[in-house]
Amino acid sequence: MNSKVDNELTLNAITKWTEQFPERLVYKTKERNYTYGELGQQSNKIAHYVQSMVATSKPIVIFGDLQFEMVAAFVGVSKAGLPYIPISSDTPPDRLQLILQTAEPALIIRVNTDTDKELDYAIPQVTYDELMQFDGTIETKFTGVQPDDTYYIIFTSGTTGVPKGVQISHANLSRFVHWMLTDFDLRDGSTYLAQAAYSFDLSVMGLYPALASGSILAPLKKEETVNFKQLFTRLPELSLENWISTPSFIDICLMEPSFDAEHYPTISHFLFCGEELTHATATLLSERFPQAKIFNTYGPTEATVAISGVEITKDILDTYKRLPIGYVKSDTRIIIDEQSKEINIVGPTVSKGYLNNAEKTKEAFFEFEGQPAYHTGDAGSLDENGLLFYEGRIDFQVKLHGYRIELEEVEHHLSQCPYVKQAIVIPKWQDHKVQQLVAVVIPENSPFEKPFQLTKAIREAASQTLMDYMVPKRFVYKETFPMTQNGKVDRKALHAEVNQ
Ligand code: AMP
Repeated sequence: MNSKVDNELTLNAITKWTEQFPERLVYKTKERNYTYGELGQQSNKIAHYVQSMVATSKPIVIFGDLQFEMVAAFVGVSKAGLPYIPISSDTPPDRLQLILQTAEPALIIRVNTDTDKELDYAIPQVTYDELMQFDGTIETKFTGVQPDDTYYIIFTSGTTGVPKGVQISHANLSRFVHWMLTDFDLRDGSTYLAQAAYSFDLSVMGLYPALASGSILAPLKKEETVNFKQLFTRLPELSLENWISTPSFIDICLMEPSFDAEHYPTISHFLFCGEELTHATATLLSERFPQAKIFNTYGPTEATVAISGVEITKDILDTYKRLPIGYVKSDTRIIIDEQSKEINIVGPTVSKGYLNNAEKTKEAFFEFEGQPAYHTGDAGSLDENGLLFYEGRIDFQVKLHGYRIELEEVEHHLSQCPYVKQAIVIPKWQDHKVQQLVAVVIPENSPFEKPFQLTKAIREAASQTLMDYMVPKRFVYKETFPMTQNGKVDRKALHAEVNQ
């Protein structure tokens, strides 16, 4: 079977593998392995349920973590012709509420049911087990998501305090998958690391190229990644070939001296995306894995994961101190704004916009010569050979350990706390990377004697809405903020203070 067919829709490719190679392995967990046949059967049941029970074209939320059942639910919903929204089970309740209010889903599929209680929302819900018990004739002819229909929606940080849902069409996804399978020399039937939560678009970089090429996904659960001992017990068992992660995660792995080609002889490809890959990280990795290929790729969720990539060879390491972020894929164009240096992306993997958010869509998306285009907010430059370089942000978005965070969103939610009059969040940098977020706060009505008690109270309040990684690590209290001549908070001065 040729998995590199140009313009093949991703769902069709997946269905072929499930029908023609049912015995083949698709998902390898600690507990058991799953086959393409099981993926086909379970997704058919889900598609059948969704087609019979959901009368609208609204999206379906799929709530869970890195289980096989999440993937089967994605495929099932896609077969039924509807978009899905992956949501991690560690999403705080108020944030989930904001997402549900924006998305207005038709149904929530609960893969994670370990919190016995129903999610407290006025939206129909069904557990995965109930889906598997659904009684009815199982059909195998499904509508399937059409090329211009939304395949998935991934929610990301929003400046106003409300997360934004990026809508990716089936055509967007299929163009991306085709590029991955042709330009990175990835082998059909190989084993991919699945580490990023399915609610982040980095996960798409492994998930769909793997499923469209009859390959295997080997998930590494969150509990395993945060516990060093568990991590290095589990990692060697995965027999990985294609490693996909943020540079931050490989930095953690490189702290273990035995993380090298001798102990992981099968790893042939390392693909990074989502944040700066530093020269130091790439150098150390290439010393540990001299035979493996290392790629730096770049792109925002809004342009379907990544739009450029480059192999980090010895030559590249010798030539550039700050590594390039790649050659732009052949169907896509980059336009760099002369004044701001902003990178604009034009091409077939650019999203149609944010779900139910015309205002933000208008701000960020535009049309250029009949093609969809997106203002990234990244500053950059192209050299004479078409190699793209990243030079920071032109706004207040940051990446912390690979997670995308709008500082204004964090400020908004900190300011909602009754003990906070005003809050400004400043990133602390090292080697072009954010190390931590520092909240500079003017308190009010604080009933606490000690600053640490106040910090604890603000943290608790904020973590009802902010993901864990968004809550600042350090709090600094002030009576006033430095001001600029035109009466705004002088962020530059605070930035200098935090980063001195
Ligand atoms: P996300 O939508 O979470 O994938 O975040 C996209 C943003 O991450 C981009 O707009 C960049 O600011 C940053 N980013 C992605 N890839 C890279 C890279 N290879 N080097 C530097 N920054 C990157």
